[in-house]
Amino acid sequence: MTDAEDTTQSSNERDSKEEKQDRTAPATDARRVRTFCRVCEPACGLLATVADNRLIKLEADRDHPISKGFVCNKGIYGLDVHNDPDRLKVPLKRTRDGSFEPVSWDDALSGIAAKLKDIQSRHGNGALGSYTGNPTAFNTLYGPSFGGFMRQLGAYKHFSSGTQDCANKFAASEAVFGTRTLHPVPDFEHADFILLFGANPAISHMSFVSLPNSMQLLKDAESRGARVLHVNPRRTESVRGAGEVLLVRPDTDVYLLAALLNEIATGPGFAAQAYHHGANLDALEEFVARYPASAVAEVIGIDATAIRDLAQNIAAAERACFYMSTGVNMGRQGTLAYWLLQMLALVTGNLGREGGNFYSQGFYERAPAAGASAPRDMVDGPFGRMRRPGGVGINLPGNLLADYITNPEEPIRALFVNSGNPVLSIGGEERLRDALDTLELLVCVDIYPNATSEHADYVLPAAGAFEREDINIAGLGLQYRPSVQFTPAVVEPAFERRPDWWIYEALAQHMGFRSLLDDDRADVWARIDAMLRSRQHSMRELREEQIIELPRSKPEDFFERFVQNEDQRVQCFPPEFAEAIERMASIFAELSAEGADQLKLITKRDAYMLNSWYANVEKLKQAPRDVNYLFMHPADAEQRQIADGASVRITSTHGELTTPVRLTEDLKPGVVAMTHGWGHGPGSALAVARATSGSNPNRLLPAGPGSFEPVSNQAHMTGIAVEVVPA
Ligand code: SF4
Repeated sequence: MTDAEDTTQSSNERDSKEEKQDRTAPATDARRVRTFCRVCEPACGLLATVADNRLIKLEADRDHPISKGFVCNKGIYGLDVHNDPDRLKVPLKRTRDGSFEPVSWDDALSGIAAKLKDIQSRHGNGALGSYTGNPTAFNTLYGPSFGGFMRQLGAYKHFSSGTQDCANKFAASEAVFGTRTLHPVPDFEHADFILLFGANPAISHMSFVSLPNSMQLLKDAESRGARVLHVNPRRTESVRGAGEVLLVRPDTDVYLLAALLNEIATGPGFAAQAYHHGANLDALEEFVARYPASAVAEVIGIDATAIRDLAQNIAAAERACFYMSTGVNMGRQGTLAYWLLQMLALVTGNLGREGGNFYSQGFYERAPAAGASAPRDMVDGPFGRMRRPGGVGINLPGNLLADYITNPEEPIRALFVNSGNPVLSIGGEERLRDALDTLELLVCVDIYPNATSEHADYVLPAAGAFEREDINIAGLGLQYRPSVQFTPAVVEPAFERRPDWWIYEALAQHMGFRSLLDDDRADVWARIDAMLRSRQHSMRELREEQIIELPRSKPEDFFERFVQNEDQRVQCFPPEFAEAIERMASIFAELSAEGADQLKLITKRDAYMLNSWYANVEKLKQAPRDVNYLFMHPADAEQRQIADGASVRITSTHGELTTPVRLTEDLKPGVVAMTHGWGHGPGSALAVARATSGSNPNRLLPAGPGSFEPVSNQAHMTGIAVEVVPA
């Protein structure tokens, strides 16, 4: 049984387990509440059983019009997260002896406000900063309240987990389509050829696409004769589910994409769509000519013939769709790779058409809203060249967080961390821990205490996903089948927990700023109501209906309605990529010079972890899942005299760690893999995570200047050169 089969089940597959659970069914006062999962983009429908304000069961919503009874284990184990006794319950303040003491909300907010004012008056706004983690993307009311607070505060140094996994998609979309939020969705149901780069939908359920049970669509596609091809350094769980794999060296996708485009340009030629809707097509053609199949094959680790055959097959497919995910984003050149992926769709006539890639508008037309106002230029920051931060999806590089905190010129002295754990989720753990200890004020807002909040002055308990009202905002513009869903708070927040929006509005009051809490009649949903009204719906209707299905935009409207460039054309050779294109050539030279036996470390996501959270769910940490293995190909192990199960020492130029090894032929030789999010350490307040700490592979990653993609500020997190020896 594969990992995916073990843990990702449709509701039907889960029936027998549910029957057993029903025998221990809750008290007769139990009621069911329709809600949805807030873990990733698909927002799968859930039915919650509640008794006495306690959440006692989560199950798939079989009647959900979009997810139709599909949930994965991360959705179902949301119950364990919700009921975890180690969750934060009350506001905590650090005492003089270094421990935490419970304080009232008023004491916590007054103390934070006083300290913040003091730091600001002594050092100005440059001393203030924030770091925002991934769960905030699935928390609709958080963003406006946090953003409003930060604007009134005058803070401008903002970091987020986006520069760990997706900032480059925003940067590329803006340069190519004129807006950061135009991300064409692959039409799996009608394509004859489906090409996926660095994706593992069986485990990760697709990022930047909201599609429950995407694996079923891939299986269906294969059954009706479509070709499904995964490009990946690992034979993933998704490959076992549907399709075949082209095993490539990590971090080389951009060269494969360039070579495919070159083969199409010099072979069958570009489709008429490209000439009709593309600008600067000649420059694109000239650029990809630098990377013919014969020149890039060795670096990618495949035959030139395989590249030529693939290009011909793509061009010959009647309808082909394309997708790229974090396996590429987290490398060094995700922005250029995402650009070239869009070019592949355009030059084969598959952009904005059924069976190709289409735009999904949803309940609000977001593409124009995230358009031209954001800064697009590169700047020389205090730590080198980078993308000027600001606007949707592009922040300061997370890999520079420690540098900005300790910058002698203008250090950050007060930092807010929201639903984030940068200590474990970015490179350079030790230097970041040291930097956090130099702060005068660190405030962490979260549902859990974590490795970052170990360094905090205040830790504030946020309401969990089932303790607050919400809508499925994260899928807006990315939904395979557009819909909008409202969930009430399934249960009232327990203990002293509060919704994140309330925390920032209350803090605004303590700072003397404008706040929604100033007016008893203020509607926290007013902004969403206005967005819904742009499509003739309303919050009142949504509260009544709970789910509103929306028509899918016509694929062919892509160019006329959604592309935001002034000339309405797709930019095929964005001028803002000039420096990145030079860098692409130098990285190619570096890869070409690497030794044949150079090992590369990639990130391996699994069904039991979600970044650095879900680490405290006991049922997901049963043996053998209680160990963070290094996965290695048997041929690489034999060469280094490493046996299966042996302890190995992994070193990079940035750090080292020791962990047990697992041998697997699923990896391309020369590639090793680990799952991130481990390494909570002996000081963790999370009992399960502490007992199954494992090693943090991000200790092997680069951090600081030069460790990110300048054009998007995206950290270099996969395809890391390492050495592995017996420990
Ligand atoms: S696929 Fe994502 S949204 Fe759906 S149940 Fe799993 S974690 Fe939740």
